Amino acid sequence: EKTPVALLGLGAMGTALARAWLAAGHPLTVWNRSAARAEPLAAEGAVVAATAAEAVAVGRLVVVCLLDDASVEEALAGVDLTGRDLVNLVTSTPGQARDRAAWAEARGARYLDGGIMAVPPMIGVPAAGAYVFYSGSAELFEEHRETLAAPAGVRYVGADAGHAALHDVALLSAMYGMFAGVAHAFALVRGEDVKPGDLAPLLGSWLTAMAGSVERTAAQLESGDYATGVVSNLGMQVAGKEALLRTAGEQRVSVELLSPYFRLMEHRLALGSGAEDLTGVVDLLRR
Ligand code: NDP
Repeated sequence: EKTPVALLGLGAMGTALARAWLAAGHPLTVWNRSAARAEPLAAEGAVVAATAAEAVAVGRLVVVCLLDDASVEEALAGVDLTGRDLVNLVTSTPGQARDRAAWAEARGARYLDGGIMAVPPMIGVPAAGAYVFYSGSAELFEEHRETLAAPAGVRYVGADAGHAALHDVALLSAMYGMFAGVAHAFALVRGEDVKPGDLAPLLGSWLTAMAGSVERTAAQLESGDYATGVVSNLGMQVAGKEALLRTAGEQRVSVELLSPYFRLMEHRLALGSGAEDLTGVVDLLRR
């Protein structure tokens, strides 16, 4: 017998989750604010609830995949959550997740927060490598681990309900740093006799090779010694950035994405850390 799932929210992500649970054979009850979005799923075997309260009343496991934290508040206002296991997959901040956990617990529910590391087409496709960070009630997670694993992989990151969002946002933030660098790189060759399509595989393999540096950064942060195993010291890198800035000038490319990082490197160097790695920048960011 597969665990019944009640799912609130049938946007792009909610619909993908719904199909994965149906495909895995879970009895599924769905609710969406605009009823039309539930129709295709009804034809595929889902039971459609007329209200959020009706969906929540069906069984223990309730999964929420609405737009944002405010929509969770709105959809569940006045709904009886006593004895429910609430899994909130809405993208939020760690603070919002902690508040939502306290809110759910005050209403008699166990709470698990999730951060989805995937786009909808990756859901229910094991080879796509999608997974969800979970944090909050360990009991809830263990009890429903198999059900939660049907749409995507699962990674439990602790009892603090805010930690799923924290991991989610940490990964996304690093990703945007990478996107910024990639945008600058393409801008540099734009208008030259260099095809973006020829640069792309070079960028991809270079970024993959450089990604290995995160392990060294982590080891240095954990030991507190930022000068161990340094391959490119800060003094050299601060001197070397001049070539990057001057190239941008020659190519008429704005340095607005690179400059903030270089400023932090210079600041750290001015503190006398020339023999270290770039790890000290982490400490400069903490306020
Ligand atoms: P969509 O914009 O496709 O769907 C939003 C859903 O929220 C709809 O079901 C909508 O209902 C509902 N909704 C919005 N406001 C309210 C409200 N006030 N009361 C009730 N229901 C409301 O979003 P997604 O499905 O793409 O995303 C859902 C969550 O998943 C978000 O938190 C998102 O950050 C997260 N996520 C999405 C990813 C993606 O790539 N799509 C990736 C990772 C996480 P209605 O149909 O009535 O408008």
